[in-house]
Amino acid sequence: MPRVLTDERNDLVKAVADFCRRECGTKEQRDKLTANGQEQHNQKLYEKMASLGWLGIALPEEYGGAGQGMVDLCLFLQETSYGLAPISGFGTTIIAAAAYEKFGTEEQKRKVLEGIANGRVEAISMSEPGAGSDVGALTCRATRTDGGYLIDGQKTWCSNAHFADHILLVARSESGASKHEGLTQFMVPTDAEGLQIRGIDTMGGKDVNDLYFTNCFVPDSAVVGKPGEGWRQLMAGLNLERMILAALMQGVARRAFSDTLAYVREREQFGRPVGSFQALKHRIADMATELECAQLLLDDVAAAIDAEPGRLFAREASMAKLKCTELAKHVTLEGMQMMGGYGYATEYGMEALLRSTVVSTVYGGTSEIQRDIIGKTYGL
Ligand SMILES: Cc1cc2nc3c(=O)[nH]c(=O)nc-3n(C[C@H](O)[C@H](O)[C@H](O)COP(=O)(O)OP(=O)(O)OC[C@H]3O[C@@H](n4cnc5c(N)ncnc54)[C@H](O)[C@@H]3O)c2cc1C
Repeated sequence: MPRVLTDERNDLVKAVADFCRRECGTKEQRDKLTANGQEQHNQKLYEKMASLGWLGIALPEEYGGAGQGMVDLCLFLQETSYGLAPISGFGTTIIAAAAYEKFGTEEQKRKVLEGIANGRVEAISMSEPGAGSDVGALTCRATRTDGGYLIDGQKTWCSNAHFADHILLVARSESGASKHEGLTQFMVPTDAEGLQIRGIDTMGGKDVNDLYFTNCFVPDSAVVGKPGEGWRQLMAGLNLERMILAALMQGVARRAFSDTLAYVREREQFGRPVGSFQALKHRIADMATELECAQLLLDDVAAAIDAEPGRLFAREASMAKLKCTELAKHVTLEGMQMMGGYGYATEYGMEALLRSTVVSTVYGGTSEIQRDIIGKTYGL
């Protein structure tokens, strides 16, 4: 269990765990909430969590939040993903929230942050067909016009845009000396004229979208932060994004581990539980050890961020994202192998966990890019 637990945090973790057991603890409940696994977000369940004050856990109190920090947020995220709560909209929502909190106008903060505390979803869009890992190469344009900007271009892989209120968009508003200059962040309502949102079919269901902007007008009041400062503003939020993804995947990894453990204790072949064969027992021991290491790293980085909220912790946040996502992928693959044919059957849930973990080493910066960032911090 996390070393960062105080009595208060313990109560939160227990309350979230109880909620998940009650609301989405069985496969039948989850099938009902997710259209048989096709959707990863259930708005009603999400709003129930909002009414308990949980979605605003890390938002400032003046905007309806609980004013807690990274440790509490990570505990909440781990427990919801361990509990298989279909609230996939929350990840992009809190990533966007941090940008509005740091750089947004008072009006934007009221709209977005108070909305989130009440159960609204937000999306964030950087990636384009030609700009993935090299996100600074983006070409979606924001051209100055009377009273605002006209947005033109295509974005892709925008999670949750189809049910979000706004998209926090990064577009090129000026041509700068380097590709990182001249970028601006905008708050674009998802029902804006000139914006088309089209779903992308994936092995995980329907949670990502292509966005097409054609002469899409946004007023000056939609600029988030300073025009031309989009890259610096993006960079300021990346440690948070990495920690959120790390915490979510640590919860999934713990879930895959406990489901696997329960299975190998129960399942008998050759007259004994399959988990008692050394070939499996040692791998279970290795996974438990790795999970403990990942937990310590995650807790430590979260506590360091809370102690120095102004610091970026680029190396440490990348390490947490790299470790927790790669481990989650490993544990779910091992889970499938140890469950034999049943791991492959939809009924047992391990294949769904695997589908959610294989992509976690891609989004939010691939594992290769995390290693690059970590390497750079050693001067390489
Ligand atoms: C399910 C899902 C949800 C997503 N949600 C969002 C979202 O909400 N908003 C958003 O803006 N984006 C989102 N993304 C986009 C995601 O961030 C990108 O997919 C990711 O950054 C990788 O970009 P790419 O897919 O274009 O791969 P590429 O950048 O083309 O990479 C292809 C391969 O080359 C490797 N590679 C690339 N450059 C280097 C390098 N310099 N050194 C070593 N290896 C390298 C990569 O690691 C990868 O293995 C999402 C993606 C997915 C799949």
